[in-house]
Amino acid sequence: MRLRPPKYIENLAPYRPGKPIEEVQREFGLKDVIKLASNENPLGPSPLAMEAVQKHLKESHRYPDATAHRLRKAVSQKERVSEADLLFGCGSDHVMDVLIRSYLSPGDQSVTSHAAFVAFRVNCNVQGVEVLEAPLLESGSFDLDAMLELIRANERVKLTYLANPNNPTGTHRDRKDVRKFLDAVRQVRGGTVLTIMDYAYWEYVTDSEIPEPQEILSDYRGSVVVLRTFSKVYGLGGMRVGYGAGDAALLEPCQRVRQPFSLNHPALVAAEAALHDQAFVDESLKVNAIGLVKWRYYLGESGIPFMPTQGNFLLINTQAGFGKSGNEVFELCLKSGVIFRPVGNYGMPDWLRVSVGTPAENERAIEVLKALRKAHAH
Ligand SMILES: *Cc1c(COP(=O)(O)O)cnc(C)c1O
Repeated sequence: MRLRPPKYIENLAPYRPGKPIEEVQREFGLKDVIKLASNENPLGPSPLAMEAVQKHLKESHRYPDATAHRLRKAVSQKERVSEADLLFGCGSDHVMDVLIRSYLSPGDQSVTSHAAFVAFRVNCNVQGVEVLEAPLLESGSFDLDAMLELIRANERVKLTYLANPNNPTGTHRDRKDVRKFLDAVRQVRGGTVLTIMDYAYWEYVTDSEIPEPQEILSDYRGSVVVLRTFSKVYGLGGMRVGYGAGDAALLEPCQRVRQPFSLNHPALVAAEAALHDQAFVDESLKVNAIGLVKWRYYLGESGIPFMPTQGNFLLINTQAGFGKSGNEVFELCLKSGVIFRPVGNYGMPDWLRVSVGTPAENERAIEVLKALRKAHAH
């Protein structure tokens, strides 16, 4: 006999991250490998952030500032959110975890969409929270009406999750639809259902029909937490910094639940410096916009269907484009040193997610796909 974990832990599927570059180099004996698999910033980290980390390493014997005072001030000023309305964590992933631990118990339920960003499901399941999923609309966007039905019909639903735009689909819902959904959720069971709106890709958004985080925060105060991250446009995925913004009273239990020193000192100073690195952000957005043009042109010209995107990635239909599953195309491209991301774990075996790279990376990846189509003409 030995101690067994609870059933909901035994049933957890392990998270499968994007394949690391070193692994592909080893497995295929390749030197030059590019990774367009994790929606990372292809330009690397913000240079100002790296400078700040180096400068502050000599303070590593000190515990980090548990209140994230300086970063809190900087975010508050830049994003026009009051300091008390911010909850910091090691990535927005951790903020989600803390929110769920603070508000839900095993046996509770949450609602999201099929193909919603997987971290939500994982964070719920770890705590014995069952996730109910509405099917995607034909367009690949979240079916907010179907989600609302699930929220209304299931008494134990306390939380709902909407990523706008979503990963891996890249799709989004417009202001009018989001507001209608939030208005309705606020009416369910006396306003006791919390909505998490994940804005991980907000900086990349170009469609003015996607509501601003500030608009959501002021109009739905107390019923929504907005998630933001330093992992994408700021290039700090490896540093692990994210935050939730919402009513201070709503976040207060979370401040007690979160581990006080979860955010380390280098991460705090890196995030603060990155926030002020506007030149880097501008350059990153430019590289992404140019990359998207290039990818859309190639995909359009080759008749490979893809979903509309508001992020730094594209979801392409490999079944229609190559007569192969996303996983098959992924495996074949590995041999040429290009790492994409299959999304079979999202129940989308016919699709492949492509992160936008530098101009040289995009060019090389497109050449590899072109060669693949030629070799496997159907
Ligand atoms: C990448 C991503 C995040 C970022 O997660 P971190 O834990 O902050 O690195 C959050 N949400 C979505 C939808 C993402 O794609």
